[in-house]
Amino acid sequence: MSSPVGPAVDAAAGDAILKPDFGARRRHFIFTDEHEQLRESIHAFVVAELAPHAEEWEETTFPDSVFRRMGELGFLGLDKPEAYGGQGGDYFTALVLAEEMAHSNSGGLAMGVAVHTDMTLPPILAFGTEAQKQAWAVPAIRGEKILCLGITEPDAGSDVSGIRTHAVRDGDEYVINGAKTYITNGHRADAIVLVTKTDLDAGYDGFTLFLVPMDVPGVVREQRLQKLGMHASDTALLAFQDVRVGADAVLGQVGKGFYHIMWELQGERLIGAAGCVAGAQKAFAKTLAYALERRAFGRKIGHFQVTRHKFAEMATKIESARQMVYVTAWRFANGEYPVREISMAKLHAARVAVEVADECIQIHGGAGYMKEYGIERVWRDLRLNRIGAGTDEIMLDVIGRSYGL
Ligand SMILES: Cc1cc2nc3c(=O)[nH]c(=O)nc-3n(C[C@H](O)[C@H](O)[C@H](O)COP(=O)(O)OP(=O)(O)OC[C@H]3O[C@@H](n4cnc5c(N)ncnc54)[C@H](O)[C@@H]3O)c2cc1C
Repeated sequence: MSSPVGPAVDAAAGDAILKPDFGARRRHFIFTDEHEQLRESIHAFVVAELAPHAEEWEETTFPDSVFRRMGELGFLGLDKPEAYGGQGGDYFTALVLAEEMAHSNSGGLAMGVAVHTDMTLPPILAFGTEAQKQAWAVPAIRGEKILCLGITEPDAGSDVSGIRTHAVRDGDEYVINGAKTYITNGHRADAIVLVTKTDLDAGYDGFTLFLVPMDVPGVVREQRLQKLGMHASDTALLAFQDVRVGADAVLGQVGKGFYHIMWELQGERLIGAAGCVAGAQKAFAKTLAYALERRAFGRKIGHFQVTRHKFAEMATKIESARQMVYVTAWRFANGEYPVREISMAKLHAARVAVEVADECIQIHGGAGYMKEYGIERVWRDLRLNRIGAGTDEIMLDVIGRSYGL
């Protein structure tokens, strides 16, 4: 049995010889046995039911039935309240899902699911009326309704305050006009959480969120956009042309939509960062296996010192990103609002993921460039993370400004 201060003290007592055990499973302190059991069951599902379709879904996008199946299994509401059909778990259960989805070998699928569970459901549950939660959150957690989130516009992405989509009050209704672009799940979604301006002169206090069914007249799914990666997801250009919704479609407080969506982005960034770490780890493992098999100049390529050091660099970067994500998640889960640290974790994890994926292509040589090995796709998929949910430059700006600069 180890002492309270660790195994080194036992060894000092003279009854043990300490040797490193690099194969030992190290559970991070934020996770319990229950989290690990959940991890195993999500992993088993992802490997058996999602990963085998990864290639096919690159061509077709993944089917809506994935949401229904994940809803049946309870995976869409892990950290959502039981009152709305969720599992009532803590925030770390959402991290476990984000990490295990990396084993689907499909960044597009993982992103489509995360937009539903971790980007659109949270503001509905946090700011929605009871009627909105019953109408949208309950069926969304069951996987019967699909959700998307509309912030970005053709003329405003990083600069959310520059959006033009606006909603004008007309009696008991609002009339919405505008456009949103790059909207994940935009083609398949049943409802959108839409960021609008309701007062053009009120600055940050002029924004309002709406929860808009996608089948109301005037919502036009204009274009299915072609992308570098994330091919399994659908990405839409949407138009809103004199869309009439009742005042009951307002999500949260009129005029407070900017603050609501900035809160939403914190959770989105942290989950995205967890996905980056898991994606990088998966690429690392795959490349390690390759490096221990592929031979050149009479030895395994992994046995060249330069390659060994590449793995050491990658492992160290991944571990640093993982620790940032876990510690920041712990703070978030314990009621803090650590915007600076979330921005740092998102920035660092996204950079690390792209650097690791790039190095993994290099270690694979020509095979890394071939579709057959799947490593080029990892790079293409992970590359989005330095842009989506706030670019590297915006993360740096948030961090820098947090020091009063
Ligand atoms: C595949 C994909 C899926 C997406 N899914 C969604 C979704 O579901 N919902 C949604 O609302 N959005 C979504 N997005 C949009 C994404 O969040 C935006 O692309 C991102 O926020 C950047 O906005 P932008 O593309 O308009 O770039 P821009 O804002 O035009 O930025 C262009 C460049 O200028 C830099 N820049 C801008 N402002 C500054 C500044 N102040 N200082 C320094 N540099 C600056 C940027 O960092 C970037 O390098 C998605 C994007 C993609 C590619």
